[in-house]
Amino acid sequence: MATDLYTLDMAALTALVREMNQPAFRAKQLWGWLYERGAQDFSEMSNLPRGFRERLSAECRLGSLSTVVEQRSEDGTIKRLYRLPDGKSIESVLMCYADNRRTACISSQAGCAMGCTFCATGQMGFARHLTADEIFEQAQRFSAELQKKGERLSNVVMMGMGEPLHNYDAALESIRRLMRDLGIGARHITISTVGLPKGIRRFAAEGLQVKLAISLHAATDAVRSSMLPVNRKYPISELLDAVREYIEVSGRRVTFEWALIAGENDSVAEAARLGRLLRGMKCHVNLIPLNPTKEYGGRPTSTEEVAAFVAELGRHRIPATVRVRRGIDIDAGCGQLSERVDG
Ligand code: SAH
Ligand code: SF4
Repeated sequence: MATDLYTLDMAALTALVREMNQPAFRAKQLWGWLYERGAQDFSEMSNLPRGFRERLSAECRLGSLSTVVEQRSEDGTIKRLYRLPDGKSIESVLMCYADNRRTACISSQAGCAMGCTFCATGQMGFARHLTADEIFEQAQRFSAELQKKGERLSNVVMMGMGEPLHNYDAALESIRRLMRDLGIGARHITISTVGLPKGIRRFAAEGLQVKLAISLHAATDAVRSSMLPVNRKYPISELLDAVREYIEVSGRRVTFEWALIAGENDSVAEAARLGRLLRGMKCHVNLIPLNPTKEYGGRPTSTEEVAAFVAELGRHRIPATVRVRRGIDIDAGCGQLSERVDG
């Protein structure tokens, strides 16, 4: 099988160039095409000799993701469904903000084994783990395309399909590459987890400045277990013990994610329970009105009730922001594009 150039670091790229009887500086030129100019095809690499380009295109390839569908939303969001070489599919989203931030939302697995009831990816089940290269390439693609327009990928969130801490090694390796090869600062990378305590502790020990987001969604075990089956194995108290340890070891603030679902987890009483649960913790709450999915009957919370929820958290001195749902006209919630194409 052709060598994917995006899986090679500088040393391996230099070895490959030498093997093809080219001087070592060609590796630097190639690197520039891969990571600075975002070439989509070997024919674009105009400063490489034609014979070398032909050999490269015969023996190598540029990445392993092929685009199946792409949608562009009015707010500038781009959503892509990619097919992997083995036929599995994953999704990535690029969000563009007025302050020039460009954020890639990438997947860590094809499908997900955690089965959260409200999540389109959870509803489709687990297909397989992604390799570090497959995770990295999703961000690299957007980065290259932006560079061509004179823009820069500034942030990456691992909030696409899959549970990154269930695919720990590959997720961490891809994060290291985001920092090393795309120059994205650790503070601009977020890893979001359903809340696996062992993974959280392991992540704390890495000593990275990467942000951690925890999908909490409910303040009692009964409600959380009904939405996130993983809570039966790791109840809220165990999860929060691991989170407290993370905060202590890393010194960092954590974000708790909360999908607001009408009549489910959006009452003022629930906000008060959440406020008591998180009292004194170095944290922030991200509220996201539910993105409706095919197999889940829930509805998003109304704007007035969202405001009441935020106000109650404020009384408990818990800072909260309501996330603007982006790309809503193109099903930009994780798993929702493939739900429409395949389902
Ligand atoms: N598996 C990880 C990361 C991917 S999901 C995790 O669960 O954290 C990214 C975020 O989207 C999570 O907070 C998840 O709970 C949330 N989410 C999933 N489906 C959603 C939906 N239909 N509406 C709103 N948020 C959703
Ligand atoms: Fe998996 Fe996260 Fe979806 Fe739960 S919310 S099923 S952990 S992707």
